[in-house]
Amino acid sequence: MNIVVCVKQIPDPATPGALDGSTHALKRDGKLILDESDGYGVEMALQLVTTAGSGEVSIVSMAPNGEMSGMRTALAMGAAKGVLVSDPALAGSDALTTAKVLAAAIQKMGAADLIIAATESSDGYTGTVPEQIAEVLGLPSVTFAKKVEISNGVLKADRQSEAGYDEVECPLPALISVTAGVVEPRYPSFKGIMAAKAKPIETFTASDLGVSPAGWAGAGQKIVSVVQAEARQAGEVIEDDGTAFNKIVSFLENLKVI
Ligand SMILES: Cc1cc2nc3c(=O)[nH]c(=O)nc-3n(C[C@H](O)[C@H](O)[C@H](O)COP(=O)(O)OP(=O)(O)OC[C@H]3O[C@@H](n4cnc5c(N)ncnc54)[C@H](O)[C@@H]3O)c2cc1C
Repeated sequence: MNIVVCVKQIPDPATPGALDGSTHALKRDGKLILDESDGYGVEMALQLVTTAGSGEVSIVSMAPNGEMSGMRTALAMGAAKGVLVSDPALAGSDALTTAKVLAAAIQKMGAADLIIAATESSDGYTGTVPEQIAEVLGLPSVTFAKKVEISNGVLKADRQSEAGYDEVECPLPALISVTAGVVEPRYPSFKGIMAAKAKPIETFTASDLGVSPAGWAGAGQKIVSVVQAEARQAGEVIEDDGTAFNKIVSFLENLKVI
């Protein structure tokens, strides 16, 4: 079982992000980390390969400035190798161009039984890249997978829906997007971190992959404005005078959770 996991490398959410002038894009010129959402995909892939008993997990990322720090984290978790697409000509790429680039890189990596992505990234999320990769590659795609099993070449997934979940089956090769919580990502061990330094990451440009960068001018999406997120309101503190449970019950009733 050979699995390719799409891993987005993002600015560390723990440090304040900065926007890039008139383009409104998030500045990504410093160190980038593995998007937490993609940690679930890497873990899922590692577990599926272990269950299958053979094969390996590869990772693919498109990121500026040859940045590999986030990829090294995925390699430290246990992925075997990676492909990075990095090219100044790809600045301004919208989600569709990103999907075309990742699809071309995945094709170059050779036959994969399964491609895994997260349902949406944590920074610039459109939640559209995985399905666009599947469309470009002509693969079936199962979105919002919260449980995944593979047996006899058939993928079975519980697909999160608003009312609960649907049980879905599809043949391989396929692409799935997984939700946070599908599995518990492992922490890279010290041995894994050291081993990751020596694992291969091949780097390609857009022209190596035969993809024409659309740039800002050709992007089908535009970021027209960015607004400050609303500050969180302070919570209400209820002192228990013996009747606090009434206030809590009415609070939960208002939220319609009871
Ligand atoms: C007009 C426009 C211009 C933009 N220009 C730039 C720019 O110059 N520089 C820039 O950094 N961003 C730019 N962006 C943002 C960029 O297009 C998106 O961040 C990128 O396309 C990924 O989309 P997403 O985060 O919405 O992915 P989602 O669809 O939310 O991501 C879902 C999953 O897809 C996979 N995935 C998504 N992106 C990648 C990736 N890059 N590598 C590997 N896996 C991935 C991951 O598994 C991820 O969890 C631009 C956006 C627009 C609209």
